[in-house]
Amino acid sequence: MQRQRRSTVHHPKREEPEIDRVRYERQIRFAELGERGQQVLAKARVTIVGAGGLGSHVATTLARMGVGTLKVIDRDLVELGNLHRQACYTEEDVQQAMPKVYALRRHLLAANSSVKIEPVLAHVDPYNVLDLLRGSDIVVDGTDSLGARFLLNEAAVELSVPFVHGAIAGSSGLVLGVEPGATACLFCAFGEEETKPQPRGIGSAAGIFPPSVEVVAALQSALAVRRVVAGPEDWGGKLFAIDSWTGDLDTSEIRRRTGREACQVCVRHRYQWLGGEKPEGPRVDVDEDQINVIPEKPRPVDFDVIAARLYRANEIKRNDYLVWARLGDLQLVVFQDGRLAVKGTNDWAEAVHLYEKYLGE
Ligand SMILES: [Zn+2]
Repeated sequence: MQRQRRSTVHHPKREEPEIDRVRYERQIRFAELGERGQQVLAKARVTIVGAGGLGSHVATTLARMGVGTLKVIDRDLVELGNLHRQACYTEEDVQQAMPKVYALRRHLLAANSSVKIEPVLAHVDPYNVLDLLRGSDIVVDGTDSLGARFLLNEAAVELSVPFVHGAIAGSSGLVLGVEPGATACLFCAFGEEETKPQPRGIGSAAGIFPPSVEVVAALQSALAVRRVVAGPEDWGGKLFAIDSWTGDLDTSEIRRRTGREACQVCVRHRYQWLGGEKPEGPRVDVDEDQINVIPEKPRPVDFDVIAARLYRANEIKRNDYLVWARLGDLQLVVFQDGRLAVKGTNDWAEAVHLYEKYLGE
């Protein structure tokens, strides 16, 4: 009698990445994640804009949890005044004048070498933001200016990519998940002067109580992971207002503005920040503590030439990514792509003059 052959089922080659059950054992035990969630995370692509307080904490959590690809975009270098609130940066990073995105990559890979980190050292603006965010499963907002946040909101709506907003002032913070086309966007929530909850003061005027950074970043990380693993159902549209000093947490539903008062961003797609005609020649971006002069097109600079031109500097540092110099009260940073950042003046004409002097032909 012929022995019955064992039926052999040929499984198609599994696309699921092999997951490290020892490393992630505790989070896999959390039922809402489980092994399936871990596999979804391993294939996910998350973009974090800003590698300061919020961005560095979110990146740390997501990298340790095993998010497959993290793109981190930031334009600045690590400074002493960052260390009290920004995850994982060190005094050595400050001494080496490391750009945040490259310092972060080093620290994240030291914690989890299996994730892919894509550092982007760039100033996000209306002309590059769509290219930078395209292809992301979700975008996390770690920026620190109102303009940058509304720009990201418009880009996320335009690309139909879910977006997690976060903001801090003093000890109070706000978090909002945005599912474009389905839940309220940032402009629905804060776009016009209505009686919407706002953090006390915006930006650096109110100072920062560092635990607020962790609270807000933790909520952002949780929302991002949940959206990646569990999808859009019952996600977004909820505004968390939390004060880490008093312990008060207020959660409110934000309605999407439709009908006669329709939101000009997520309903009408009339953008204020995004796109527009790209000006010819270098652009100047002035914000609270620095001025950036950005070449029309990125152009590689010769750091030897720059360093030679800065021979009168009181102090100079250089690495693979930038040349940093102190000239009296001014601090100048020249980046690989030809961007100049100036601190110590709020006179944009002076910044342009410095750009011409050190980066001119
Ligand atoms: Zn809207």
